Amino acid sequence: MPTPIGHALAGIAVAGAARSRMSPRHVAILAFCAAAPDLDLVLRLFDGLNHHRGPSHSVGAAVLASLAAWMLRRAGLGLPPPLLVGVAWASHVALDYLGLDTSPPAGVMALWPFSDAFLISPVSVFYDIPRSFSPAAIRHNLLAVSIEVLVLAPVAWLAWGGGRLRRASGAKGRG
Ligand SMILES: [Zn+2]
Repeated sequence: MPTPIGHALAGIAVAGAARSRMSPRHVAILAFCAAAPDLDLVLRLFDGLNHHRGPSHSVGAAVLASLAAWMLRRAGLGLPPPLLVGVAWASHVALDYLGLDTSPPAGVMALWPFSDAFLISPVSVFYDIPRSFSPAAIRHNLLAVSIEVLVLAPVAWLAWGGGRLRRASGAKGRG
């Protein structure tokens, strides 16, 4: 399962792929939304139970995030378009689905609320992140982050480059 660095890069890619002009604040919010499902780790502090990769890691939660963004925008808060918030949130589900997971139940509750099943890709693109500070775990995590950056930074870069090309061709068309 990717680190917050990998998830934030996916959120930045979503911002870059958007047709609307993105302020740095909106890009930062989308990067945050792409990493936010892992805040379910905090729930353990309240009841001692493991909620990680549960309902927050689902298409249902992505829809709820969109709805929340829509309501907050209506309330006057300058948020990115609700659809982009939902896509950024869903990117987290997709990336975790593609990640190695060695702690059972493996995978994410991707289809909640329609199914409580934990789903995981048969092919792992990203490493798991052991929560340990042993030298081996640190080496493993550095490799994991390197793979995330190698895979997702070009995606984000292309998303932003593509956006510029589209705007340039649009301007030419109007002129
Ligand atoms: Zn996650």
